[in-house]
Amino acid sequence: MMAQYLEIKAANPDALLFYRMGDFYEMFFDDAVAAAEALDIALTKRGKHDGDEIPMCGVPHHAAEGYFLTLIRKGFRVAVCEQMETPAEAKKRGYKAVVRREVVRLVTPGTLTEDSLLDARRHNFLAAFSQVRDEAALAWADISTGALNVMVLPRVRLGAELARLAPSELLVAEGSEGGLGEIVSDMGVPLTSVSRGAFDSTSAEKRVAGLFDAASLDAFGSFTRPEIGALGAIVDYLEITQKGKLPLLRPPHRETLGGTMQIDMATRRNLELTQALSGGRAGSLLATVDRTVTSAGARLLERRISSPALSLDPIHARLDAVSYFSEHAPQSRDLREILKRVPDLDRALSRLSLDRGGPRDLASIRNGLIQATELAERGLPDAPHLLTDALNALTGHDALVDLLDAALVADPPLLARDGGFIAPEYDEALDEARKLRDEGRGIIAGMQAEFAELTGIQSLKIKHNNVLGYFVETTAKHADAMMSPPLSETFIHRQTTANQVRFTTVELSDLETRILNAGNTALEIEKCLYDTLKGAVLDASAQISTASRALAELDVQAAFADLATSENWARPVVDDSHDFAITGGRHPVVEAALRQQGGAPFVANDCDLSRSGDAHIWLLTGPNMAGKSTFLRQNALIALLAQVGSFVPADAAKIGLVSQLFSRVGASDDLARGRSTFMVEMVETAAILNQADDRAVVILDEIGRGTATYDGLSIAWATLEHLHEVNKSRALFATHYHEMTALAGKLDGVDNATVSVKEWDGEIIFLHDVKRGAADRSYGVQVAQLAGLPPSVVERARSVLEMLEKNERDGGETKALIDDLPLFAATPAPAPKPSAPSPAVERLQSMNPDDLTPREALELLYELKGLA
Ligand code: ADP
Repeated sequence: MMAQYLEIKAANPDALLFYRMGDFYEMFFDDAVAAAEALDIALTKRGKHDGDEIPMCGVPHHAAEGYFLTLIRKGFRVAVCEQMETPAEAKKRGYKAVVRREVVRLVTPGTLTEDSLLDARRHNFLAAFSQVRDEAALAWADISTGALNVMVLPRVRLGAELARLAPSELLVAEGSEGGLGEIVSDMGVPLTSVSRGAFDSTSAEKRVAGLFDAASLDAFGSFTRPEIGALGAIVDYLEITQKGKLPLLRPPHRETLGGTMQIDMATRRNLELTQALSGGRAGSLLATVDRTVTSAGARLLERRISSPALSLDPIHARLDAVSYFSEHAPQSRDLREILKRVPDLDRALSRLSLDRGGPRDLASIRNGLIQATELAERGLPDAPHLLTDALNALTGHDALVDLLDAALVADPPLLARDGGFIAPEYDEALDEARKLRDEGRGIIAGMQAEFAELTGIQSLKIKHNNVLGYFVETTAKHADAMMSPPLSETFIHRQTTANQVRFTTVELSDLETRILNAGNTALEIEKCLYDTLKGAVLDASAQISTASRALAELDVQAAFADLATSENWARPVVDDSHDFAITGGRHPVVEAALRQQGGAPFVANDCDLSRSGDAHIWLLTGPNMAGKSTFLRQNALIALLAQVGSFVPADAAKIGLVSQLFSRVGASDDLARGRSTFMVEMVETAAILNQADDRAVVILDEIGRGTATYDGLSIAWATLEHLHEVNKSRALFATHYHEMTALAGKLDGVDNATVSVKEWDGEIIFLHDVKRGAADRSYGVQVAQLAGLPPSVVERARSVLEMLEKNERDGGETKALIDDLPLFAATPAPAPKPSAPSPAVERLQSMNPDDLTPREALELLYELKGLA
């Protein structure tokens, strides 16, 4: 067995080998050590190899999925090695023959299909990046839904696309990892190197075209060599990991770079589009706007939020659909009720195609198609074309639905293995076999009564177990009678246990054979029918995925309408101007959070960066905590939502198409990457200044914060000038350098705005109201006080500030002033010593209030006052 193990392990050096032994998967040697640690399970030993003990650990096979997930998350890959025959079959080949085993699947992050291993509301992409000389391409597939896409992609844009798609695994050709490493590790995408041959475009073309029964890929569009290579690598990798069982993939869909709003990784992170800064989905824009009721709808929504459209037609079509549902609330409500009952058709199809499915997946297809037909029949009166197109894609499944409906029981089991999923009266031969099997069981009951009568033993039972099959059982005290004539002529002794004796009879074993045969026949027939039904479903897979996409589209549009109505969002105007005018805008996530906390409501704010207006750049000043970052982000999010095709959190919005969205926050900590925070800030700012064009929207939050004051101010100053003169982008620029407000007077397109605050009794009150003009001052000292700085420090800061300001007014030199400033004079209040309680406390501890008369109490009060 060890020889067999080592041979299989040698063929799968990069994966942990899960070696099936009976009911367990066992791991040996280094695999065992690594798995035991990663899974936190016991490491044991078994036998010896070359004189050393063999480390071993194991997991029960029925619980293996959970362990796969843990291992995948920790960066391992798993080779699943199954027994391909029973021990009995192996014995037939020879007394000492080892059970034949084979690796049936490689489990990798990008090739999961199990429901339990996947998030139903998220995609799971496997991507491949291919380079041929100066050209490059990225292909990506979700084998759990069958989506297959490809795009020409210059290498410099790889990072941004990986950020958009967030694949679970990226394939690259052996030897080309260098240089990609940094991009990929920034993203946290596991990198898998595959042979260069997998990327070779000639063999790749054959492989991919073969998948779709076509002679060449030309039938699906004209692809470049890197595109074909990337697609080929994906197909090749699927063949290897799925051991020849290819998932259903749709023909490759070509996306064009620049077909969607360009959003780089830092911006996605900052704006928390699909993930919050804290890591999870909660708190992200996606989580806040997601009202979809199906998993496929949720996945489509994630795709839309990650890739807002860049052309007017789809945006308007989607906005029309949202308007329609907002204005037709009853239709929308009914539609959503029906959609709630739609199962995940894509994932059911994928499991069926990979032979990991079962009768329940067939039932999902049936139920989903029934709901789809119902939706199509109800129709949507006077709906815009996006919705009528979707409805039209839902029909034409009657024959398949009839077939599945007639064949399947209402609620079939997960696995085909044990039968019981084909409905009665669907197949005559099956009904016949089942009748025999069930009658047999009835006859056994009759036989038990007969035997009890014959022997006079009322407690006699006919039972069944896997070793003996059916047997007659009596308690041990009847053993003698049963084993002597005349009873011994009928009852053949089989087994004696502590308390029971067990027998069989000729009649019983005949009957058993008949029941067994009938049961086996029934099972065989069911399995055969399962294959036929599966075949019928897979033959219709293209139409089923079309219907599934249409259902997801309906779900997303109705969900946006629901959101718009309940949150009071408005339909944006999107056109090809360079306008950007928002009235009464809100930040959807902050607003939702404030509502949840039950505090003051969100203060809506206007923003106008229209190139046709006064100023396309706003310089925003105001104290910390006033709401600058919130304002910046809300405007970016409103533009993004508008191009997703959603209504927006504002009273009105007019957005001229935004081609690129940039968002940067000064000096965010990025120690993990080992760069100084200021360096990161500058690298990111450089990326914007080099890329942004006049259709870009840029938000810069406290750029220059990461360095000394004058350095920072000069960099911020020059950056703003460049944005104004060269990039000509629409931009919001938050800064705490008040000196910069002077720029508004110098540059035509720059205006000042400030988030207003009120000062009352030395304290600061945030109004969160954005108005034109510069902040009068920064209120840093007041904010510091709010934050709980010791009063002595706050006082000192106030007096230093006053002197600095006075000095500036008088035109004095800072250096001289600093020399003049008296030393820190505030004597800190003596810190109470925790070890020595105050006399008042000691006195209090020594008395008991119940023992005091009112008069004594009064005296004590005076005494305490004296001690304080
Ligand atoms: P800044 O960037 O000026 O330091 P933030 O944008 O981080 O300030 O806002 C600080 C806090 O103020 C936010 O967490 C939010 O709770 C609150 N806030 C911001 N804008 C608004 C608003 N328009 N209405 C109500 N509360 C707001």
